[in-house]
Amino acid sequence: MRNSIGRILSPDIPLKQRLFQLLSAIALAEFIIVTIYTVLSGGNREHIVIMLSGTAMFTATVAFTSRSEKKRFGATVSGLLYFSLYPITYFASGGMYGGAPSVFAFALVYVFLVTEKWERVVSLSLCILVSGICFSTAYLHPELLDRHTVKAEHIESFLSVCLVTLLLCSLFAFVTEVYRAENRIVQKQKKEILELNLSQKRFFSSMSHEIRTPVNAIIGLNEMNLRETLAEEVRENSLNIEVASKILLQTINEIMDMSKLETGRMEIVAADYQTTAMLSDIVNMTWLRAQEKGLDFRVEADPSLPMVLHGDEVRIRQILLNVITNAIKYTKKGSVVLSLGCKKAEEGIALMTYDVKDTGIGIRQENIPFLFDAFNRVDASQTHTIEGTGLGLSIVRQLLDMMEGSVHVESVYGKGTTFHIEIPQKIVDRTMIGKVDLKRDVKNALEKPESSRKMSALQILAVDDTPMNLMVVKKLLKSTDARIDTAESGAEALKMTAQNRYDVILMDHQMPEMDGIECLHRIREQTDGLCHNSKIVCLTANVGAELEKQYLLEGFDGYLEKPVRGNTLEKELARLCLSPQLEAGASCGPE
Ligand code: ADP
Repeated sequence: MRNSIGRILSPDIPLKQRLFQLLSAIALAEFIIVTIYTVLSGGNREHIVIMLSGTAMFTATVAFTSRSEKKRFGATVSGLLYFSLYPITYFASGGMYGGAPSVFAFALVYVFLVTEKWERVVSLSLCILVSGICFSTAYLHPELLDRHTVKAEHIESFLSVCLVTLLLCSLFAFVTEVYRAENRIVQKQKKEILELNLSQKRFFSSMSHEIRTPVNAIIGLNEMNLRETLAEEVRENSLNIEVASKILLQTINEIMDMSKLETGRMEIVAADYQTTAMLSDIVNMTWLRAQEKGLDFRVEADPSLPMVLHGDEVRIRQILLNVITNAIKYTKKGSVVLSLGCKKAEEGIALMTYDVKDTGIGIRQENIPFLFDAFNRVDASQTHTIEGTGLGLSIVRQLLDMMEGSVHVESVYGKGTTFHIEIPQKIVDRTMIGKVDLKRDVKNALEKPESSRKMSALQILAVDDTPMNLMVVKKLLKSTDARIDTAESGAEALKMTAQNRYDVILMDHQMPEMDGIECLHRIREQTDGLCHNSKIVCLTANVGAELEKQYLLEGFDGYLEKPVRGNTLEKELARLCLSPQLEAGASCGPE
């Protein structure tokens, strides 16, 4: 019994088929019970014969339907066959005075549930029509009814109510079980997807970390070569190494971002920011590249733009950097112009516009719709010699979608391209930015921090479990003449902070046994420690805007991404230590 129920309800069978088999099994059971009752109560012989032959035909049709390919047709025939026995039963069992009305209702439900689409409409309409004819005929010609005794009619009514109740309860139990089973499957799949997401996240972040660590050494040591070597050929090779390393880093970042976007882990983190500060960051990061290619790089910012906006500055910067870098990449001569404006400013929201116009290779009209597809690089004949993954614009589009922004491209093939970007941003301070002098910013960005010569008094501790990274930091800060000690583990760092006072500690995060965060807290609380108030900077290959916030919340005074440039390191030291007091001879670190 259990086995047959198990076979009928097996989850391997499609849901519709399971429902058909269950309902047919219930209907068959009902036929058998009614036939047995009719025999036992000495019912009419013809009625018994019709019931038996009907039951046999119905069983054969159901069995055939369960095996055949034409399930929909078979189910409709079974439904109609099952229903067709009821008019006879109705008249043979006293019409509405017996148990027929309630089983009539079940027969209609059966027809409704086993049929589909237009067959359902036709069959159900037909069955309701036949039911109506039976009831009205019985009303108009009561002599056609085979009336039983009052006692028998009551027993039959009661039995049929019990039967139908039982049938409906079984149906309900089935539906509930199916729902639970489906729910279990959904929960299991949800768990599997979460686990998959998590392991994908772990894979990508560890891959990024593992690649960044050696790239840090390559870029850092290569920078030393560039600084110290005069031989033309070596310098040229170093420059090529620098370009290749940057491309590698860019590719890692894009793959990380793509993975975050695809798994829904990318978040928009809004905060207040200065419009001009963001603009000058962008210019600093792109200007040199344009100049190296001999391009005229201009920035035009509407002086009436609001001074402070609220939005995800990091992601806006990423979008603009991507589009500007492309403009520089795909332009051989001429200019690249970034124009900032505000289309409308209503109810505290500014619709900021960022146009990037170049005089580069241009894009064919038919290729424009495919620009934003991931891994798509259009016009291979022109672009195959230019580095790129084809991910940048896809990331741009997805980030814009997340910020309710938009991008629109206009291009004349061979002449140039303009990317129009719009992003709504909350206005925090309406004061106008006025005329922006970005030349001054560019000059600052290019200059070596003039503070480097004031850093010789600094005492620095670099903590990293990779000796190569320590060597890179030492070499990058060589020109500052600062004293740089190194520690290859958290424990070693604690020993040194107990013996020496350091102005700045450059701390790696991922280290075996004691990681950088734990080491930071232990230095702050170290009994007899000499570095409770030292500036501690997280210098890590774990990168991401959201991570920076977490590190600062942990208590770090700064955050630097690996691979780190010499200039960036020096600037960070200057930011942390070269306060006016220090310049006057005081130290920034321990009291
Ligand atoms: P890639 O890494 O290849 O630059 P993107 O997604 O940033 O990937 O860009 C996709 C493609 O769009 C590029 O391969 C290039 O063919 C085209 N493209 C993007 N920006 C420009 C531009 N300013 N001028 C000409 N073609 C461009």
